[in-house]
Amino acid sequence: MSLAELHLHLYGCLRGEHVLRMLARSPRPSWERYEPKFEKVFGRPSPARALVARYVAGDETAVAEFEELFVFGDEDAGSFERFQTKFDLIAAASVVGIAARAPEMIPAALDEIRDAARMILDDQRRSGVSYAEQRFFFGRGTPPELIEGGLRALLEVFQESSAPIARLAPSLPRSDPWPHWEIVQRLALSPVGAALTGVDFCFIEEGHPPKEQRALFDAVLDHNRQNPERALAILYHVGESFEDKSLESAVRWVHEAAEMGAHRLGHAIALGVDPDAYGAHVRKESVAERRDQVAYDLRHASALAQYGVHVDRHALAREAELLASREGELQIVYDHRRLHEVRARQRFAMHAVRGHGAVVEVCPTSNLRIGGLRDPAHHPVRRFLEEGVAIVVASDDPGIFGTTLQRELAWVAAHAGVDVHELGARSWSARSEVLTGRR
Ligand SMILES: [Zn+2]
Repeated sequence: MSLAELHLHLYGCLRGEHVLRMLARSPRPSWERYEPKFEKVFGRPSPARALVARYVAGDETAVAEFEELFVFGDEDAGSFERFQTKFDLIAAASVVGIAARAPEMIPAALDEIRDAARMILDDQRRSGVSYAEQRFFFGRGTPPELIEGGLRALLEVFQESSAPIARLAPSLPRSDPWPHWEIVQRLALSPVGAALTGVDFCFIEEGHPPKEQRALFDAVLDHNRQNPERALAILYHVGESFEDKSLESAVRWVHEAAEMGAHRLGHAIALGVDPDAYGAHVRKESVAERRDQVAYDLRHASALAQYGVHVDRHALAREAELLASREGELQIVYDHRRLHEVRARQRFAMHAVRGHGAVVEVCPTSNLRIGGLRDPAHHPVRRFLEEGVAIVVASDDPGIFGTTLQRELAWVAAHAGVDVHELGARSWSARSEVLTGRR
């Protein structure tokens, strides 16, 4: 089966062996941040530095031990801190972060990015991936010459690759995407722009409602109308982590991102997760978020009612008045009845997402290990398929999760009872360049 992989973060594709090689080559690995954090999170000192020394001395057995240290496995599940600590090993090996503060290191950072991209394309080819869309994130405040140089370096490497066919979707910082977007648009229209097929939003979503990106989405869609041959898909991580808000708001965020024109939604766990996964519990959310929820309920009152959600227009209008002058946080108590209602809201939102034509990217291992879904039966994929939501299966950070696209597809096929070939074929028709009409 010829595989297309649509949700990847480039450095998350690095295997333990790649990171070990990078650390061995690095003139100055940044141990000072990684080591104390590892000890704090895992309660023992990290053997990483000693493993690198053994590897440099020619001890090949260090590779397997390093791989085990590096992979964020089932035994680490449910701890974002552990995930971050594993990721910090990549940061220790990389000079990209250093170059963001020390411009003289930019050439070394660009060399590293090129090398990493080549190692990853190699790994993908060997594991049967024929087409790969990769995301790459430069944080807010990165010097423009590093962003532009880094993205250009990737596009040059990707352009040369035919197995796999490689595509780039730069991730834009949610807090201020505009300076990055300006660079991305320029590159998209440049001679290397053919391999640039999307933009992505990732990293912490809490505090960044989709409505904040409306103007940026409009700018991308406008770019697409003016430059159809260089159109860019909007890829948006949403509903992956929603500790800070009501389940209703988490569902709404996914719906809103699709409504605003996102072509593919990353994870969207909130849209279809079994609400019983959370049991009776209490949550908090900001008054501002509740105001948006009230407005949403009023706007969709009759459609929600069709799905069995009772919307009391008068009560909501009164609540809106009360909330207008308030700030701070509200407490929301979930009992069986309210969880049942969330399920109905999800059905409404799933049908809306389907109507908008957005495709949900399902990354099972990532969801089970960092999404905090303890019981695989609560994973949303079965409901997505039941409700006719378009999905593709992807692996997110296959290096750090120690997985492959084949394994992710096999899990969904077994878990949801669908044909693995049919599932794999879905990705080909959901490529960014297909969804935006480039091809
Ligand atoms: Zn992701």
